[in-house]
Amino acid sequence: MSDGYLDLNWRFRESWTDMPTGRPVGSTIGSRGGIGEDGRVNTALPDDPAALLAALRPHVAHALVTTDFDGTLAPLQVDPEDSRAVPGTIEALTALTRRGATVAVVTGRDARTVVRLGGLDAVPGIVVAGVYGAETWCAGELLTPDTPAAVEALRDRLPATLADVPADPAVWVEDKRLSLVVHARKADDPVAALAAIREPVTALGEELGFEVHPGSGVLELRLPGFDKAGAIERLVADRPPSAVLYLGDDLGDLPAFAEIVRLRERGVPAWSVAVEASAVPEAVAAADVRVPDADAAVALLTALAQD
Ligand SMILES: [Mg+2]
Repeated sequence: MSDGYLDLNWRFRESWTDMPTGRPVGSTIGSRGGIGEDGRVNTALPDDPAALLAALRPHVAHALVTTDFDGTLAPLQVDPEDSRAVPGTIEALTALTRRGATVAVVTGRDARTVVRLGGLDAVPGIVVAGVYGAETWCAGELLTPDTPAAVEALRDRLPATLADVPADPAVWVEDKRLSLVVHARKADDPVAALAAIREPVTALGEELGFEVHPGSGVLELRLPGFDKAGAIERLVADRPPSAVLYLGDDLGDLPAFAEIVRLRERGVPAWSVAVEASAVPEAVAAADVRVPDADAAVALLTALAQD
């Protein structure tokens, strides 16, 4: 384990102790890649995969390559336990680390689950930031806080709240230990099923101090003070990179896309990529570059690792 990783852990503990951090969560998305703040087209910003590769390749040896998992490396599934990275993912991530890049998966799911489903422990040196950066896995070691009392209270009370609505019988709760996710993807009409529970679930979450975030067919109750922007911020601070790439597909990735814009404004070459297959228009609009699906995302990473 490197000193850098220990340093990252130390900062993580500090941020956990101080949570909520006060940093805006889901803050405003900056100008879309390719368009400067003055409204003029910035030709230095690539807006297609080939141009992105040309711009990023010279930086690969000292780059930070960060990516979401579900919907980005792994096609979205009705049951999240069925999520698997597309063929070639491990090879692409490993090749990037061999070129010298730091590779990190930044996910809303718990880190151990994503390591298991993705077989990510095969990638040397990979960092997995789980539950929006609330926990960190690296080299077989997981740094994660104890289960907060608020989560215990939410576990106790959420079933009764759903029973009172009553929720669609296909609605179920995923317990990520540091957050709970109400899933409606198995319902005949996921949109209607989510709409029916949104108000009481949001009220309960807010009463217990959670942030309530919608996602693709889900409503997630998260501990405050963590999002993917913060996770990337810590990774950048831990090992200052020469360039940063982030790939994502959902609403939970918007803070990461905004962080990419902030890095660019600070002079760090940085780009974001959205996977269109998840059909989240906000994510597609906010990213610099779009790719159609997880296979194309992994193809981009594979190409990036090549000379
Ligand atoms: Mg995703």
